Amino acid sequence: MSRRIYDRHQRLVLAARDEGCVWAGCDRLVCHFHHFLLSEGEWTARMAADGVVEIIPPTRVDPDQVPRWHARFTRQPRAA
Ligand SMILES: [Zn+2]
Repeated sequence: MSRRIYDRHQRLVLAARDEGCVWAGCDRLVCHFHHFLLSEGEWTARMAADGVVEIIPPTRVDPDQVPRWHARFTRQPRAA
């Protein structure tokens, strides 16, 4: 499994693109806590085919690992 860790500047660009943290229920712009959780490798993030960033929980939290996404995202394709 590969992991991608973003530096501070990349996180700022992603936060602007995504209009804040992509974690469900989090309204921070640059969120060190959720970035830390992803960097630990237990939780993962991926870009779905429809352009929505999904957070995948570890099996200890959700055995089915159902993707979660922030309420600001719809399941409609986003403009590039
Ligand atoms: Zn957050």
